[in-house]
Amino acid sequence: MAEQNTKTALITGITGQDGAYLAEFLLKKGYRVHGLKRRSSLFNTDRIDHLYQDPHLDNRNFTLHFGDLTDSTNLIRVIQETQPDEIYNLAAQSHVKVSFDTPEYTANADGIGTLRILEAVRLLGMIEKTRIYQASTSELYGLVQAVPQSETTPFYPRSPYAVAKMYGYWITVNYREAYKMYACNGILFNHESPVRGETFVTRKITRAVAKIALGLQDKLYLGNLSAQRDWGHAKDYVEAMWLILQQEKPEDFVIATGVTTTVRDFVRLAFAELGIEIEFSGKGEQEKGVIIDVDEERLAELNIDKSLIKFGQTVVKVDPAYYRPTEVDLLIGDPTKANTKLGWIPKYDLQMLVTDMVQSDLHLMRKEEYL
Ligand code: GDP
Repeated sequence: MAEQNTKTALITGITGQDGAYLAEFLLKKGYRVHGLKRRSSLFNTDRIDHLYQDPHLDNRNFTLHFGDLTDSTNLIRVIQETQPDEIYNLAAQSHVKVSFDTPEYTANADGIGTLRILEAVRLLGMIEKTRIYQASTSELYGLVQAVPQSETTPFYPRSPYAVAKMYGYWITVNYREAYKMYACNGILFNHESPVRGETFVTRKITRAVAKIALGLQDKLYLGNLSAQRDWGHAKDYVEAMWLILQQEKPEDFVIATGVTTTVRDFVRLAFAELGIEIEFSGKGEQEKGVIIDVDEERLAELNIDKSLIKFGQTVVKVDPAYYRPTEVDLLIGDPTKANTKLGWIPKYDLQMLVTDMVQSDLHLMRKEEYL
């Protein structure tokens, strides 16, 4: 049952992983939720289809609007029409590797897009009414200047994505200081889930592991296996976004688990979830992951055909096409401020995240197999 609440929220990037989880979270809290989505000739609302409400209903509390962070007039119109108490700016070109290929678009949407929202709220005279959450990112730390990274660690962005987000971060701080807006950055470390985009490394891994176990794919090709990330669950992270906007004073917060893992170990854990043990050998581009053991009871429990899993089979190889021109090698966040001031404690640890993602992809691949 939804709680009673009369607040209105506007979420940009509603069709993304975080937009979908946040919309669900706010609807449960009784919010009216408006979402901004880009027009596309293909349907891209899979993640929010379960929240859809018939537009003919009188008391709708979930509404979608077409819009784009690169179009100010449209942002002004949607903000004026919806009169939000809270805006969550989650829309972005969010892929680091893709930002090297589309640096100008990334700067426009991720950097100036943030300015457009802040300006819209200011020009509409809504500074007193509207609180703004800006989706900042651990990629700001880039070439890390301290380990772990906290709210006071200097930034050193290493991609067009991170440089654009750096503008978004500082313009949010500047509008807070210049105009006394309630505008905050959540500096979120990587957060994943069963609906994470398929080209991000965790989801790429869990999808491939499920397919390999079902005999639908041979091998998984990855880039830098030694990169380390602080991976949390998106469900926990959207709650932190909301908490950041419920404080007395607007402030910025690091949201992270405080645990870091290599891509290589994430691969090992994902296969292990299905009872398959992988060993890595070789260096650099020659490194590979081979099946060295199988837990037959686990396979049987999951109804996986053991004849499809072969000892000695190479299931992971390196493809340098996935390397980045400049890499972020190590991210690990210090969530102390969020833990103490927001009372935010994540419910998922890495193992629970891996289990959720691998089991969900196993289910999905089985369904797709029979379509
Ligand atoms: P990011 O932290 O926002 O860039 O999230 P990603 O999931 O895209 O990448 C996390 C890390 O995994 C980066 O350091 C990548 O270099 C590394 N990585 C290794 N292989 C791959 C791959 O095949 N795809 C992606 N996306 N990342 C990879």
